[in-house]
Amino acid sequence: MPLPDLGPKPHLGYTPSPLDRAADRRNDAAAVAALAADARAGVYVIGGELIVAKKAGGGNDPMFTPAEAKALGAARETVFLGLAGDAGRFGCGIDQAAAESLKARADLLVIDLRSIAVQGLVAPEHLPPLAEAKAMLMWHARHRFCANCGKATEIVEAGWRRDCPVCKATHFPRTDPVVIMLAIDGDRCLLGRSARFVASMWSCLAGFVEPGESFEEAVRRETREEAGVTCGRVVYFRSQPWPFPMSLMIGCHAQALTTELKVDRTELEDARWFTREECALMLLRRHPDGLGTPPPVAIAHHIIRAWVEEGDGVLR
Ligand SMILES: [Zn+2]
Repeated sequence: MPLPDLGPKPHLGYTPSPLDRAADRRNDAAAVAALAADARAGVYVIGGELIVAKKAGGGNDPMFTPAEAKALGAARETVFLGLAGDAGRFGCGIDQAAAESLKARADLLVIDLRSIAVQGLVAPEHLPPLAEAKAMLMWHARHRFCANCGKATEIVEAGWRRDCPVCKATHFPRTDPVVIMLAIDGDRCLLGRSARFVASMWSCLAGFVEPGESFEEAVRRETREEAGVTCGRVVYFRSQPWPFPMSLMIGCHAQALTTELKVDRTELEDARWFTREECALMLLRRHPDGLGTPPPVAIAHHIIRAWVEEGDGVLR
């Protein structure tokens, strides 16, 4: 039986960024200040997990002028995100409590980034700079003190480094690599579900890359630990920034060498094999039991779809 047509390829969330990061400007304080003072500057305002947007013309605009941003709350940190043309883009971190209090305002939308992305609440070109800003501001919020000596650190490089004035250690923003993989056994693939997932959603297995490990090794280890399945060949697919709080998802397909499942119930609620036809129906939200995959904003959707469309071709 032929597989159903999945339609046009959907867009992956949070990438690619329309901004030029202009890293060469970061150590030029005067240039960054001039960009911030320019009337064309745009500021994304974030308080912890909450993104602030203004309601405008039936939609939502998450970009404020510097004056508007200042009026929303005192900035804990400001990060130079890059340039859109020659206009500066900035991320401004306010306290989560200040963002919470803005929820009372009828002219603002104050909501978490996942909801914005999944529900398409802002124009898609804002998602990559929002992801950059959110990850950077979360890093600042968690690294105000030196990991080496415990003293308060200072922001330098337009938000891209924190220096310790006491022990002179320099601290750079971090990105945590996570492998997210689809193990394949011929016409079947391995999906799992976590107790955190919405009911009926199944997805790729995933886990953090550990120190001293390649991502291929991490794919094999996580698949064996979580589902008891041994994998051989691992093929990189594509990656996605995932600012929850500051991860990089490394999407892979893997050749399953064993098929018997031994599910780690502390990590997963369940895991099982799915056919290509079932996965096609899940991507289309037409599965007879109402099962589904993650939405197109997430890389898991694309990893599963690539296998449904290409079969074993993804392992070449
Ligand atoms: Zn220090």
